[in-house]
Amino acid sequence: MPLENELIQLKKWFLNTKRDLPWRQTNDPYAIWISEIMLQQTQVSVVIPYFEKWMEAFPTVEKLALSHIDSVIKIWEGLGYYSRARNLHSGAKYLLEHHNGILPHTEIELQKIKGIGPYTVGAILNFAFHKKKAAVDGNVIRVLTRLYNLDLDVSKQKNVKQIHNLAESILPDFEPWIIAESLIELGATVCTKKPKCKECPLKLNCKAALHGTAENLPIKSVKIKTEYLFRHAFLIFANNKLLVKRGKPGQIMSDLYEFPFIETKSKDERLQLNQNNLFGISLKKTSDFEEVNHSFTRYRVNLSSSLFKAKEKPISGYEWMSIEELDRLSFSSGHKKLFLKVKERVSTSTVK
Ligand code: SF4
Repeated sequence: MPLENELIQLKKWFLNTKRDLPWRQTNDPYAIWISEIMLQQTQVSVVIPYFEKWMEAFPTVEKLALSHIDSVIKIWEGLGYYSRARNLHSGAKYLLEHHNGILPHTEIELQKIKGIGPYTVGAILNFAFHKKKAAVDGNVIRVLTRLYNLDLDVSKQKNVKQIHNLAESILPDFEPWIIAESLIELGATVCTKKPKCKECPLKLNCKAALHGTAENLPIKSVKIKTEYLFRHAFLIFANNKLLVKRGKPGQIMSDLYEFPFIETKSKDERLQLNQNNLFGISLKKTSDFEEVNHSFTRYRVNLSSSLFKAKEKPISGYEWMSIEELDRLSFSSGHKKLFLKVKERVSTSTVK
């Protein structure tokens, strides 16, 4: 356990150096819930404008619950991991129905809200309700495994639970939320993958720094494997409309629009595609676009695309939509890049 003095140093360091973040200006449980969900797998600098836009559009649980999913996804567009936005929307509906639109302040009730896991429960209880509860994210795991030189495999839930208990045990009775947030801040800014131990307020008591093991911790036996995909998108115009598809519920791109595309095993295979007759219509290619790269979850996608002309006819599972209609809807990140290119091309030519 760190000495009381170390926690005092940590607190002092945090109060002097903490970043000025919009969700730190409030203890509104709703705002804290939104910020914590946005911050999952996403950098603070990316989250800030999204958080501000979101709070302007949906300032309360009720406003969020009563909004259409399309406007929720539109605000989230570009932030990735869209299930988080869908879960927030479902969670708000649940809160309106069961809690009068107010976030509950018990672990048991918070756990019932869709998309809220142990970290978010801890964060809401601690930062909003000022309870002595640990909020253990990747930053805190990194700090604590190094501080105590723990060679626990953090891919295992039981070890994460052990770290959670440890985090809770070191929280003081007085203002526990400051230490909880200090640990997160330390992991995010100083005890990073390559730790800056010289700047660390815990350096005199840190076992990993003492043993030279910091960069090897935490231990993760299960690594997420990145997969590479090659796709070719068909930007098909007919009667000034583009052919698009909306992701079905349950799919990874649920509620997001994409152009029709074909997936191949390699770039070479993509070049050999017959591009004259696909999706049940005959196509006339007018030009190619440069490739774009994008990623979602563990996938990295190389996306090529071409513009085509065709005759409008119904195609099962697809819709024909004008540029103006599509402008109001949300695309997956790679297809958004394509849509912007098409829009630009259309404004300067007669591609339609
Ligand atoms: Fe992390 Fe280094 Fe601080 Fe230890 S001394 S907590 S390894 S930054």
